[in-house]
Amino acid sequence: MIIARTLAELETARTRLDQTGFTPTMGALHEGHLALIAAAKQAGLTPTASIFVNPTQFGPNEDFSRYPRDEAGDLAKLEQAGCALVWLPSAETMYPDQAATSVRVAGPSRLWEGTIRPGHFDGVATVVAKLLGQMRPACAFFGEKDWQQVQVVRRMVADLLLPVRIVPVPTVREADGLAKSSRNRYLSSQERAAAPNLFAVMRETVRRIETGDAVEACLAAARAALIGHGMVPDYLALVHAENLEPLDAPSPPSRLIAAARLGPVRLLDNLAVG
Ligand code: AMP
Repeated sequence: MIIARTLAELETARTRLDQTGFTPTMGALHEGHLALIAAAKQAGLTPTASIFVNPTQFGPNEDFSRYPRDEAGDLAKLEQAGCALVWLPSAETMYPDQAATSVRVAGPSRLWEGTIRPGHFDGVATVVAKLLGQMRPACAFFGEKDWQQVQVVRRMVADLLLPVRIVPVPTVREADGLAKSSRNRYLSSQERAAAPNLFAVMRETVRRIETGDAVEACLAAARAALIGHGMVPDYLALVHAENLEPLDAPSPPSRLIAAARLGPVRLLDNLAVG
C-alpha cells in the first residue's frame, strides 16, 4: 500500500493506477469504512482511500479537536483490506493560504443536518470536490449511514458535471442493530445498551408506515419512544430519498431519517420505506 502525504507523492502514485475506487474517510476506521473498500474491490476497481479530519465540516462547538485519531491502526486496517493507495493530506495542503473558494450545494443540504449543523455540508462538499480532483477515481464510495451526505455529494457531482460515479454502500451495523460509527466509543455502557433502540424504533415505524398507518401519528409515537429510551431526537422524518424534502405519505423513493442525541453522541440512522 502506498502512503502519500504530499501532493507530489500523491501524483506519482496516482499516475501508476488506473480505474480506481475511492473511499474518503476521517479515520478511526471500523467495519463500516472497510465495507466501502470491499465494495470498490468487488466492483473490479483498485481501492484507494483518504484519511483527513476535515476542519471545515465541524461547527465551532463540535468535536474537531477531540475527533478520534488512530493513524497507525487505520493504515494497518486499510492495508489488510487491500487498499492500494492512501492519501493523508495536511490541512495546509487542502486549504491553501488565501483560499477563497468553497462549494455550496443547496437542495438536499437545506434541512435536517443542514439546519442543525450550519455550514457542515459546505465543508463536506468542498473537501469532497477537492479529494475527487486529487484522486480522479472512476467511482467514489459513500456510506448510506450518512444518507443526506450521499444525496448532497450526488447532487454536487451531477451539477458540476464531475466525471465520477458515486456509489452508495448499505449501513454496516453492530449485531444489535446500532449503526457502526467512530463516535460510538464515547457512549457509556448504559448509553451503549440504549443506543440500538434508535434502529428498533425506526424499523417499527417503517413497518407501521408501510402497513398504511398515518405518518404523522407514527412519527409522533416514535419520537415519544426515543425519549422514553433516554434520547433527545433532533429530527425524525419521512422524506423524499433524494431531495430530502419532508413527505406526509410514503411515495417512493422515500426514506425514514433520524438523528437523536444520547449522552455525548448524536446517533444518525435511516431506513428505506416502501
Ligand atoms: P467518516 O469517516 O465518518 O467521514 O465516514 C467515511 C465514510 O464511511 C462515509 O461515506 C460514511 O458514510 C461511511 N460510513 C461510516 N459509518 C458507516 C457504516 N456504519 N456503514 C457504512 N458506511 C459507513
